[in-house]
Formats: sequence, structure tokens, C-alpha cells
Amino acid sequence: MTELVTQTVQPEKTYALKDYKTNVHNTWCPGCGDFGILNSIQMALAELQLPPHKIAVVSGIGCSGKAPHYINTYGLHTLHGRAVPVATGVKLANPELTVLAVGGDGDGFGIGCGYFINAGRRNVDLTYLVFDNQVYGLTKGQASPTMLKGLKAKGMAEPAVQDNLNPMALAISSGYTFVGRGYALQPRSLAQLIAQAVRHRGTAFIDILQTCPVYNDLHDKEWYGQQHDGHPRLYQLDDTDYDPCVHDVEDEGEVMAKKVQAIAKSYEWGQRIPLGCFYKIDLPTFEDQLAQGRPRGMDSITRPNLFNRDVTRLIESLR
Ligand code: SF4
Ligand code: MG
Repeated sequence: MTELVTQTVQPEKTYALKDYKTNVHNTWCPGCGDFGILNSIQMALAELQLPPHKIAVVSGIGCSGKAPHYINTYGLHTLHGRAVPVATGVKLANPELTVLAVGGDGDGFGIGCGYFINAGRRNVDLTYLVFDNQVYGLTKGQASPTMLKGLKAKGMAEPAVQDNLNPMALAISSGYTFVGRGYALQPRSLAQLIAQAVRHRGTAFIDILQTCPVYNDLHDKEWYGQQHDGHPRLYQLDDTDYDPCVHDVEDEGEVMAKKVQAIAKSYEWGQRIPLGCFYKIDLPTFEDQLAQGRPRGMDSITRPNLFNRDVTRLIESLR
């Protein structure tokens, strides 16, 4: 006789935008571009249908450092300039997590610049989003490393006396395997770009042009929205024949040509500013390389048993 077995199949949970939001009171200034970036991150996570408990968002210090408080995932608000190394540690401790590092331009390209560069050498699978408003907003508008020399925003006592750095060129030459630029006030296209970066296996970097209506009166919503000769200042590389992808990673000529192309594109600034993915290459991640090249201790790094570790020897060594 055939036994009839009935099973209750649980429908797979789907996640809505609200699942990535918190009730924490938001203290950003009204009209801040950070709101557009926050929405874009949440839209991207909803599009990717990532369970909130499998995501960690790590920030540094600055206005953007508050972002983890507003995203309903694991979050860590760390020290000035330290978002990337802490995010690296989080990913290596628990490779099952999707890890985002978020921070400002002062945070990441000033005090955190060494970490920014060296993260490109490893290719840990994480995504670094920089909220780039060209000023230190939290400390009243001083010039950050992305403020152009000679410019003076309203919070600055004098024009910037140092040259700016180019974070896109720096990321490409440092070895980041996905490099893009977005704009805070175009959340749909920014969300798409963030989703691409999170899907990418390897270290992804997005420089996000962000308006700070309180301290940056130079590059504001109106400036970014201007047209020249009938063309909008901001344009998407996707709408051109630009191809950011390296198709044959063994072909050093192609790799070099794509890097040179992307670095040249990163210097296009002023009347026309490109957005989108500038450079992408699929290479083994740091975690992949550890798994292949470090048999001893590999398990503890790539597959940690977080709840049953014997730390007696460590404690003894500290006595
Ligand atoms: Fe945003 Fe600028 Fe206010 Fe900071 S100071 S919250 S960056 S508007
Ligand atoms: Mg800033």
C-alpha cells in the first residue's frame, strides 16, 4: 500500500524595501545627499533579496558614518578612517556575510587613505561606498582630499591650497577589481550600480558624488544638474559604447588597456562627468587564495566555528 506523505512547503521569504529600514531617528541635515545614497543602498539590497541577517555594514566617522544606524542589518560604527580594515576583518571572520564598508571622502581618502590603497591589493570580497561631498561635513566644512585646489566652499576660511586626489584613478591603480562612480540624487541608477558592485566577487569601490547643501555650495544639486551644449553634465557610461570589462584576464595587454582607458575616463571632469562602471575584472578573491595557498589554519580563517573556539592558549599567553 502506498503511504501518502504530505509536506508543508514553506514559501520562500521575500524582502521588501522596508525590511532594510530602521526606526532610528535620522540626524542628517534636511536635503542632504546622504538620504539618496541610503535609499539606493536599501533599494540595491532589496533587489538582490539578501536576508538582512546576512549583511554587515561597517562605517568610519563623519556624517556618512551614521549610515549603519539606518540600515536594518548588522552594523558597526567604527573609528575615523577604519571602515575598510574592520570590514575586511568582518568578511574574513565570517565569509558568509555580504559586507559593505561605507564612509566619507575625508574619512576614506584622508586618514584612511593607506587602508583604501592597500585594500585594492587583496581583493577581499566586499564593497566600499564613499559618500564624496568634497568637505568634512561633520566638522563644519573644511576641504577634504577631493576638493579641487583653488576652490573655496562656504565653510572654508581660505581656498584649498593642496591638489585634490583622484579616487577613481587611485582605486584602479591600487588593484580594485570593480570601480564605479554614482550620484546621490539619481537613486535608481545608483541602486543598480551598487547592486552590480555587491554581486561582483572581489573588492568593489564606488565613489558617490554627494551634495552637502550646508557646506558645499560649489558642487550642489544645481551644478550637477547643469547642461552644456545641450548635454547634461552627468552622463552614464552605459549610454555610450564604453566597455569597462576585462574579457580575458590572461591577456595583459587587454588588462592594461582597460586600466588606462578607465584612468583616462576618471580625469573627465567639469562640463561632462561620467557615471557608472569604469573598470571590472574577475580575479580570484583573497579568500579564494587563502583557501588554495594556506592549508594550515585555513579552516579557522575561511570556515570559522564562531561558537566553540578554545581560546585558553590565547588567554594564557596574555597572563
Ligand atoms: Fe549632509 Fe552636509 Fe549636513 Fe553632513 S553637514 S548631514 S553631509 S548636509
Ligand atoms: Mg565628506
